Amino acid sequence: MKESFLPFALPDIGDEEIAEVVQSMRAGWLTTGPKTQALEESFVKFLGKGVESVAVNSGTAGLHLALEALGISPGDEVITTVYTFTATAEVVRHLGANPVFVDVVMGGFNMNPAAVEAAVTERTRAVIPVHFAGEACPMKEIFQVAKRHNLAVVEDAAHALPTRYNGSIIGALPSEAVVFSFYATKPIATGEGGMLVTRNDNLAHRCKVMRLHGIDRDVFNRYQTERPAWYYEVIAPGFKYNMPDIAAAIGLVQLRRMSALHGRRLEIAQGYDEAFINLPVTLPPRPDNHEDHAWHLYVLRLRDNAPVERDTFIEEMNCRGIGTSVHFIPLHLHPYWRDRYGFKPEDFPIALDCYRRAVSLPIYSKMTDGDVERVIKAVREILA
Ligand SMILES: *Cc1c(COP(=O)(O)O)cnc(C)c1O
Repeated sequence: MKESFLPFALPDIGDEEIAEVVQSMRAGWLTTGPKTQALEESFVKFLGKGVESVAVNSGTAGLHLALEALGISPGDEVITTVYTFTATAEVVRHLGANPVFVDVVMGGFNMNPAAVEAAVTERTRAVIPVHFAGEACPMKEIFQVAKRHNLAVVEDAAHALPTRYNGSIIGALPSEAVVFSFYATKPIATGEGGMLVTRNDNLAHRCKVMRLHGIDRDVFNRYQTERPAWYYEVIAPGFKYNMPDIAAAIGLVQLRRMSALHGRRLEIAQGYDEAFINLPVTLPPRPDNHEDHAWHLYVLRLRDNAPVERDTFIEEMNCRGIGTSVHFIPLHLHPYWRDRYGFKPEDFPIALDCYRRAVSLPIYSKMTDGDVERVIKAVREILA
Protein backbone atom coordinates (compact mmCIF):
# COMPACT_ATOMS: atom_id res chain seq x y z
CA MET A 1 0.00 0.00 0.00
CA LYS A 2 1.35 3.39 -0.97
CA GLU A 3 1.67 5.77 1.96
CA SER A 4 0.07 9.18 1.61
CA PHE A 5 2.20 12.30 1.40
CA LEU A 6 3.34 13.61 4.79
CA PRO A 7 3.08 17.41 4.66
CA PHE A 8 5.84 19.58 6.06
CA ALA A 9 3.45 21.32 8.46
CA LEU A 10 -0.16 20.99 9.60
CA PRO A 11 -2.12 22.87 12.26
CA ASP A 12 -3.57 20.82 15.14
CA ILE A 13 -7.26 21.74 15.17
CA GLY A 14 -9.67 19.57 17.13
CA ASP A 15 -13.34 19.46 18.05
CA GLU A 16 -12.87 21.98 20.86
CA GLU A 17 -11.53 24.66 18.50
CA ILE A 18 -14.36 23.95 16.07
CA ALA A 19 -16.98 24.17 18.83
CA GLU A 20 -15.55 27.48 20.06
CA VAL A 21 -15.68 28.96 16.54
CA VAL A 22 -19.23 27.73 16.02
CA GLN A 23 -20.20 29.38 19.29
CA SER A 24 -18.79 32.72 18.10
CA MET A 25 -20.73 32.41 14.87
CA ARG A 26 -23.98 31.51 16.64
CA ALA A 27 -23.47 34.44 19.00
CA GLY A 28 -23.04 36.71 15.98
CA TRP A 29 -19.62 38.04 17.02
CA LEU A 30 -17.50 37.78 13.90
CA THR A 31 -15.07 40.62 14.49
CA THR A 32 -13.22 41.75 17.63
CA GLY A 33 -15.34 41.06 20.70
CA PRO A 34 -15.48 39.01 23.89
CA LYS A 35 -13.28 36.14 22.67
CA THR A 36 -10.50 38.49 21.59
CA GLN A 37 -10.62 40.13 25.00
CA ALA A 38 -10.61 36.72 26.69
CA LEU A 39 -7.58 35.68 24.63
CA GLU A 40 -5.72 38.84 25.67
CA GLU A 41 -6.58 38.12 29.31
CA SER A 42 -5.51 34.47 29.04
CA PHE A 43 -2.24 35.55 27.50
CA VAL A 44 -1.56 37.94 30.37
CA LYS A 45 -2.33 35.14 32.85
CA PHE A 46 0.07 32.85 31.04
CA LEU A 47 2.93 35.39 31.03
CA GLY A 48 2.25 36.79 34.48
CA LYS A 49 2.88 40.03 36.30
CA GLY A 50 2.79 43.45 34.74
CA VAL A 51 2.38 42.47 31.08
CA GLU A 52 -0.23 43.97 28.76
CA SER A 53 -1.32 42.14 25.63
CA VAL A 54 -2.69 43.48 22.37
CA ALA A 55 -4.29 40.96 20.00
CA VAL A 56 -3.71 41.65 16.31
CA ASN A 57 -4.51 40.00 12.99
CA SER A 58 -0.90 38.93 12.30
CA GLY A 59 2.56 38.85 13.80
CA THR A 60 3.62 41.25 11.07
CA ALA A 61 0.95 43.72 12.23
CA GLY A 62 2.26 43.42 15.79
CA LEU A 63 5.83 44.18 14.73
CA HIS A 64 4.64 47.16 12.68
CA LEU A 65 2.58 48.53 15.57
CA ALA A 66 5.44 48.12 18.06
CA LEU A 67 7.89 50.02 15.87
CA GLU A 68 5.32 52.73 15.08
CA ALA A 69 4.60 53.18 18.77
CA LEU A 70 8.33 53.51 19.43
CA GLY A 71 8.37 56.40 16.97
CA ILE A 72 10.59 54.74 14.38
CA SER A 73 10.68 57.25 11.50
CA PRO A 74 12.27 57.87 8.11
CA GLY A 75 16.06 57.75 8.28
CA ASP A 76 16.16 55.68 11.48
CA GLU A 77 17.97 52.35 11.56
CA VAL A 78 16.75 49.14 13.13
CA ILE A 79 19.18 46.26 13.53
CA THR A 80 17.94 42.75 12.88
CA THR A 81 19.19 39.39 11.70
CA VAL A 82 19.57 38.57 8.02
CA TYR A 83 18.42 35.02 8.85
CA THR A 84 14.70 35.64 9.21
CA PHE A 85 11.43 35.94 7.34
CA THR A 86 10.96 39.16 5.40
CA ALA A 87 8.15 40.30 7.75
CA THR A 88 10.72 41.17 10.42
CA ALA A 89 12.38 43.71 8.14
CA GLU A 90 9.54 44.89 5.88
CA VAL A 91 7.80 46.66 8.76
CA VAL A 92 10.89 48.82 9.23
CA ARG A 93 10.53 49.94 5.62
CA HIS A 94 6.79 50.60 6.15
CA LEU A 95 7.90 53.37 8.53
CA GLY A 96 10.46 54.73 6.07
CA ALA A 97 13.34 53.50 8.21
CA ASN A 98 16.13 51.10 7.19
CA PRO A 99 16.79 47.65 8.56
CA VAL A 100 20.48 46.99 9.18
CA PHE A 101 21.18 43.29 8.89
CA VAL A 102 23.67 41.35 10.97
CA ASP A 103 25.00 37.84 10.57
CA VAL A 104 24.20 34.91 12.84
CA VAL A 105 26.55 33.47 15.41
CA MET A 106 29.01 30.81 14.18
CA GLY A 107 27.39 27.39 14.41
CA GLY A 108 23.93 28.76 15.23
CA PHE A 109 20.89 30.44 13.72
CA ASN A 110 20.44 33.44 16.02
CA MET A 111 21.88 36.95 15.72
CA ASN A 112 25.39 37.59 16.96
CA PRO A 113 25.32 40.27 19.70
CA ALA A 114 28.87 41.38 18.82
CA ALA A 115 27.70 41.99 15.25
CA VAL A 116 24.78 44.01 16.62
CA GLU A 117 27.17 46.21 18.56
CA ALA A 118 29.38 46.66 15.50
CA ALA A 119 26.36 47.74 13.43
CA VAL A 120 25.24 50.54 15.77
CA THR A 121 25.37 54.07 14.31
CA GLU A 122 24.01 57.44 15.41
CA ARG A 123 20.76 56.58 13.63
CA THR A 124 20.15 53.23 15.32
CA ARG A 125 16.94 53.26 17.35
CA ALA A 126 16.03 49.63 17.93
CA VAL A 127 17.08 46.01 17.61
CA ILE A 128 14.83 43.08 16.69
CA PRO A 129 16.16 39.71 17.85
CA VAL A 130 14.40 36.72 16.26
CA HIS A 131 14.22 33.53 18.33
CA PHE A 132 14.84 31.25 15.37
CA ALA A 133 12.93 27.94 15.44
CA GLY A 134 12.03 28.65 19.07
CA GLU A 135 15.59 28.79 20.44
CA ALA A 136 16.06 31.89 22.60
CA CYS A 137 18.55 34.51 21.41
CA PRO A 138 21.39 35.47 23.79
CA MET A 139 19.17 38.10 25.41
CA LYS A 140 21.56 39.08 28.21
CA GLU A 141 24.17 40.20 25.69
CA ILE A 142 21.56 41.83 23.46
CA PHE A 143 20.13 43.80 26.40
CA GLN A 144 23.66 44.92 27.31
CA VAL A 145 24.30 46.27 23.82
CA ALA A 146 20.85 47.89 23.75
CA LYS A 147 21.46 49.56 27.09
CA ARG A 148 24.89 50.89 26.11
CA HIS A 149 23.48 52.50 22.96
CA ASN A 150 20.00 53.38 24.20
CA LEU A 151 18.19 51.07 21.76
CA ALA A 152 14.68 49.71 22.15
CA VAL A 153 14.42 45.91 22.00
CA VAL A 154 11.47 44.37 20.12
CA GLU A 155 11.55 40.57 20.14
CA ASP A 156 10.22 38.71 17.11
CA ALA A 157 8.85 35.71 18.98
CA ALA A 158 6.92 34.28 16.02
CA HIS A 159 8.53 30.87 16.68
CA ALA A 160 8.95 31.13 20.43
CA LEU A 161 5.81 29.85 22.14
CA PRO A 162 6.69 28.59 24.65
CA THR A 163 10.41 29.37 24.84
CA ARG A 164 12.36 30.02 28.03
CA TYR A 165 15.54 31.97 28.50
CA ASN A 166 17.46 31.45 31.75
CA GLY A 167 14.23 30.36 33.40
CA SER A 168 12.09 33.26 32.13
CA ILE A 169 9.35 32.71 29.60
CA ILE A 170 9.81 34.67 26.37
CA GLY A 171 7.28 37.48 26.64
CA ALA A 172 8.28 38.32 30.21
CA LEU A 173 11.78 39.71 29.57
CA PRO A 174 12.27 43.49 29.86
CA SER A 175 12.00 44.29 26.13
CA GLU A 176 9.87 47.17 24.90
CA ALA A 177 7.65 44.69 23.09
CA VAL A 178 7.46 41.00 22.20
CA VAL A 179 5.45 39.80 19.22
CA PHE A 180 4.04 36.29 18.71
CA SER A 181 2.50 34.94 15.50
CA PHE A 182 -0.55 32.65 15.30
CA TYR A 183 -0.16 32.02 11.57
CA ALA A 184 -1.51 28.61 10.46
CA THR A 185 1.80 26.76 10.89
CA LYS A 186 3.09 28.51 14.04
CA PRO A 187 3.28 26.82 17.48
CA ILE A 188 -0.26 27.90 18.29
CA ALA A 189 -2.41 28.80 15.32
CA THR A 190 -5.51 30.87 14.63
CA GLY A 191 -5.15 30.88 10.83
CA GLU A 192 -3.99 34.48 10.83
CA GLY A 193 -3.29 36.30 14.08
CA GLY A 194 -0.73 37.50 16.55
CA MET A 195 -0.17 38.92 20.00
CA LEU A 196 1.93 41.89 21.04
CA VAL A 197 2.95 42.05 24.68
CA THR A 198 4.59 44.93 26.50
CA ARG A 199 5.25 46.24 29.97
CA ASN A 200 5.02 49.84 28.78
CA ASP A 201 1.52 51.34 29.30
CA ASN A 202 2.02 54.14 26.79
CA LEU A 203 3.22 51.74 24.14
CA ALA A 204 0.26 49.40 24.79
CA HIS A 205 -2.15 52.32 24.51
CA ARG A 206 -0.65 53.56 21.25
CA CYS A 207 -0.75 50.05 19.76
CA LYS A 208 -4.41 49.62 20.76
CA VAL A 209 -5.31 52.95 19.15
CA MET A 210 -3.32 52.28 15.98
CA ARG A 211 -4.56 48.71 15.50
CA LEU A 212 -8.05 50.13 14.83
CA HIS A 213 -7.91 53.22 12.60
CA GLY A 214 -6.33 55.51 15.19
CA ILE A 215 -9.57 55.63 17.13
CA ASP A 216 -9.02 56.68 20.74
CA ARG A 217 -11.87 55.64 23.01
CA ASP A 218 -10.02 56.62 26.17
CA VAL A 219 -9.97 60.40 25.57
CA PHE A 220 -13.18 60.87 27.50
CA ASN A 221 -12.00 58.89 30.47
CA ARG A 222 -9.19 61.40 30.80
CA TYR A 223 -11.64 64.26 31.18
CA GLN A 224 -14.10 62.17 33.18
CA THR A 225 -16.90 63.26 30.94
CA GLU A 226 -19.92 61.08 30.20
CA ARG A 227 -19.26 59.60 26.76
CA PRO A 228 -22.18 58.85 24.42
CA ALA A 229 -21.84 55.33 22.97
CA TRP A 230 -21.67 56.54 19.38
CA TYR A 231 -18.86 59.06 19.91
CA TYR A 232 -15.18 58.48 19.15
CA GLU A 233 -12.18 60.52 18.12
CA VAL A 234 -9.59 59.74 15.47
CA ILE A 235 -6.18 60.91 16.58
CA ALA A 236 -3.97 59.39 13.85
CA PRO A 237 -4.19 57.57 10.49
CA GLY A 238 -4.26 54.12 12.08
CA PHE A 239 -4.30 50.63 10.64
CA LYS A 240 -6.80 47.77 10.38
CA TYR A 241 -4.96 45.24 12.51
CA ASN A 242 -7.60 44.01 14.98
CA MET A 243 -8.10 40.29 15.60
CA PRO A 244 -11.53 38.84 14.75
CA ASP A 245 -13.35 36.74 17.38
CA ILE A 246 -13.50 33.80 14.97
CA ALA A 247 -9.69 33.65 15.15
CA ALA A 248 -9.57 34.40 18.88
CA ALA A 249 -11.95 31.47 19.47
CA ILE A 250 -9.40 29.09 17.94
CA GLY A 251 -6.61 30.80 19.89
CA LEU A 252 -8.35 30.39 23.26
CA VAL A 253 -8.43 26.62 22.86
CA GLN A 254 -4.93 26.44 21.36
CA LEU A 255 -3.51 28.42 24.27
CA ARG A 256 -5.17 26.02 26.74
CA ARG A 257 -3.61 23.11 24.82
CA MET A 258 -0.20 24.77 24.47
CA SER A 259 1.68 22.50 26.91
CA ALA A 260 0.38 19.38 25.24
CA LEU A 261 1.19 20.65 21.75
CA HIS A 262 4.67 21.68 22.89
CA GLY A 263 5.20 18.35 24.69
CA ARG A 264 4.62 16.45 21.49
CA ARG A 265 7.09 18.62 19.54
CA LEU A 266 9.67 18.05 22.28
CA GLU A 267 9.24 14.29 21.92
CA ILE A 268 9.70 14.48 18.18
CA ALA A 269 12.82 16.67 18.48
CA GLN A 270 14.28 14.26 21.02
CA GLY A 271 13.57 11.31 18.72
CA TYR A 272 15.22 13.06 15.76
CA ASP A 273 18.28 14.04 17.80
CA GLU A 274 18.82 10.46 18.89
CA ALA A 275 18.23 9.03 15.43
CA PHE A 276 20.52 11.44 13.57
CA ILE A 277 23.43 11.69 15.98
CA ASN A 278 25.79 9.59 13.84
CA LEU A 279 24.79 10.99 10.46
CA PRO A 280 26.85 13.59 8.54
CA VAL A 281 24.61 16.43 9.77
CA THR A 282 24.79 19.21 12.32
CA LEU A 283 21.88 18.86 14.75
CA PRO A 284 19.91 21.97 15.70
CA PRO A 285 21.49 23.98 18.52
CA ARG A 286 19.63 23.41 21.75
CA PRO A 287 19.65 25.05 25.15
CA ASP A 288 20.98 23.08 28.16
CA ASN A 289 17.40 22.40 29.06
CA HIS A 290 15.76 20.80 26.02
CA GLU A 291 12.31 21.96 27.25
CA ASP A 292 13.26 25.63 26.97
CA HIS A 293 13.11 25.32 23.16
CA ALA A 294 9.69 25.77 21.50
CA TRP A 295 10.69 23.44 18.62
CA HIS A 296 8.63 25.29 16.05
CA LEU A 297 11.21 24.12 13.50
CA TYR A 298 13.72 21.28 13.42
CA VAL A 299 16.50 22.33 11.05
CA LEU A 300 19.29 19.94 10.05
CA ARG A 301 22.42 21.23 8.33
CA LEU A 302 24.13 18.81 5.93
CA ARG A 303 27.87 18.56 6.48
CA ASP A 304 30.50 18.47 3.71
CA ASN A 305 30.81 14.69 4.07
CA ALA A 306 27.11 14.10 3.45
CA PRO A 307 26.58 11.92 0.33
CA VAL A 308 24.14 14.43 -1.19
CA GLU A 309 23.71 18.19 -1.22
CA ARG A 310 20.72 19.92 0.32
CA ASP A 311 18.64 20.28 -2.85
CA THR A 312 19.06 16.60 -3.73
CA PHE A 313 18.23 15.66 -0.15
CA ILE A 314 14.94 17.57 -0.45
CA GLU A 315 14.13 15.84 -3.75
CA GLU A 316 14.88 12.45 -2.22
CA MET A 317 12.62 13.19 0.75
CA ASN A 318 9.91 14.27 -1.67
CA CYS A 319 10.29 10.98 -3.60
CA ARG A 320 9.66 9.19 -0.32
CA GLY A 321 6.48 11.22 0.19
CA ILE A 322 7.81 13.56 2.87
CA GLY A 323 7.48 17.34 2.77
CA THR A 324 10.37 19.51 3.95
CA SER A 325 11.18 23.20 3.79
CA VAL A 326 14.08 25.63 4.03
CA HIS A 327 14.32 28.26 6.77
CA PHE A 328 15.31 30.80 5.76
CA ILE A 329 16.48 32.18 2.45
CA PRO A 330 18.57 34.96 4.06
CA LEU A 331 17.07 38.35 3.31
CA HIS A 332 20.15 39.70 1.52
CA LEU A 333 19.64 37.13 -1.26
CA HIS A 334 16.10 38.34 -2.07
CA PRO A 335 15.91 40.78 -5.01
CA TYR A 336 14.29 43.61 -3.06
CA TRP A 337 16.75 43.66 -0.17
CA ARG A 338 19.73 42.78 -2.35
CA ASP A 339 19.08 45.57 -4.83
CA ARG A 340 18.02 48.22 -2.33
CA TYR A 341 21.17 47.83 -0.23
CA GLY A 342 23.56 46.41 -2.85
CA PHE A 343 24.26 43.18 -1.00
CA LYS A 344 26.46 40.37 -2.24
CA PRO A 345 25.91 36.76 -1.10
CA GLU A 346 29.23 36.75 0.84
CA ASP A 347 28.23 39.79 2.88
CA PHE A 348 26.74 37.47 5.50
CA PRO A 349 28.96 34.38 5.21
CA ILE A 350 27.66 32.43 8.19
CA ALA A 351 24.01 32.90 7.23
CA LEU A 352 24.84 31.96 3.64
CA ASP A 353 26.56 28.76 4.72
CA CYS A 354 23.64 27.88 7.04
CA TYR A 355 21.15 28.45 4.26
CA ARG A 356 23.00 26.22 1.78
CA ARG A 357 23.06 23.32 4.22
CA ALA A 358 19.69 23.79 5.94
CA VAL A 359 16.61 21.63 5.63
CA SER A 360 13.60 21.76 7.95
CA LEU A 361 11.97 18.43 8.78
CA PRO A 362 8.29 18.02 9.70
CA ILE A 363 7.75 18.62 13.44
CA TYR A 364 4.14 19.13 14.51
CA SER A 365 1.88 17.74 17.17
CA LYS A 366 -0.42 15.90 14.77
CA MET A 367 2.42 13.63 13.61
CA THR A 368 1.96 10.04 14.71
CA ASP A 369 4.82 7.85 15.94
CA GLY A 370 4.58 6.17 12.54
CA ASP A 371 5.05 9.52 10.78
CA VAL A 372 8.13 10.27 12.88
CA GLU A 373 9.56 6.81 12.13
CA ARG A 374 8.97 7.38 8.44
CA VAL A 375 10.91 10.65 8.49
CA ILE A 376 13.75 9.04 10.44
CA LYS A 377 13.95 6.08 8.07
CA ALA A 378 14.00 8.33 5.01
CA VAL A 379 16.69 10.64 6.41
CA ARG A 380 18.87 7.65 7.33
CA GLU A 381 18.43 6.04 3.93
CA ILE A 382 19.43 9.19 2.10
CA LEU A 383 22.38 10.09 4.32
CA ALA A 384 23.80 6.73 5.38
C1 LIG B 1 5.75 33.95 10.63
C2 LIG B 1 6.77 34.95 10.96
C3 LIG B 1 6.46 36.31 11.11
C4 LIG B 1 5.15 36.90 10.70
O1 LIG B 1 4.05 36.38 11.32
P1 LIG B 1 2.61 36.51 10.60
O2 LIG B 1 1.67 36.18 11.70
O3 LIG B 1 2.60 35.51 9.48
O4 LIG B 1 2.48 37.90 10.13
C5 LIG B 1 7.44 37.16 11.55
N1 LIG B 1 8.67 36.73 11.81
C6 LIG B 1 9.02 35.44 11.67
C7 LIG B 1 10.42 35.02 12.01
C8 LIG B 1 8.10 34.51 11.21
O5 LIG B 1 8.46 33.23 11.03
